[in-house]
Amino acid sequence: MLPSQGREASSILVPRSKSDRNIQKLQLITMINEDLIKKAASVVKVRKTKNGLFGDVGSALVSDNGKVYVGICANVGSNTICAERTAIGPMMTDGEYKITKIVAVWKDENGIIYVIPPCGNCRQYIRDIEEGNLETEVVLDKDKVVKLKELLPYYDWWQKVS
Ligand SMILES: [Zn+2]
Repeated sequence: MLPSQGREASSILVPRSKSDRNIQKLQLITMINEDLIKKAASVVKVRKTKNGLFGDVGSALVSDNGKVYVGICANVGSNTICAERTAIGPMMTDGEYKITKIVAVWKDENGIIYVIPPCGNCRQYIRDIEEGNLETEVVLDKDKVVKLKELLPYYDWWQKVS
């Protein structure tokens, strides 16, 4: 075999194997997103009271150490706490502040699941508990994520007025 033939052979093989790895990685990400969506949906259980509505939104997150936390929303006359923040509470109690990935879902009366992005308050809260959470992946669909910083486009805007 000539040296040039060897190079050609390896240049064909390398992209093929990279492509295979990318496909495997994409499948893994898709599976993890789907699992997290299912986990968030599994805690949705609506409870209505005279003063409140609970559990119509569920959230699941993966902390930096790989542990999964879930939460539900609690809307009462005096206050509203989103599902993301009730999931974050036990995480912080465990001494964790960094979130790798987070999702929130709402289910309609037919059981159809909708992925919903964090509200403005939660976006800021997630950033404020840990600056590194600007890199948190916010799941928007089985195969779509955006970084928290993309949902807070002017997060570092401090313009000195001259
Ligand atoms: Zn919120």
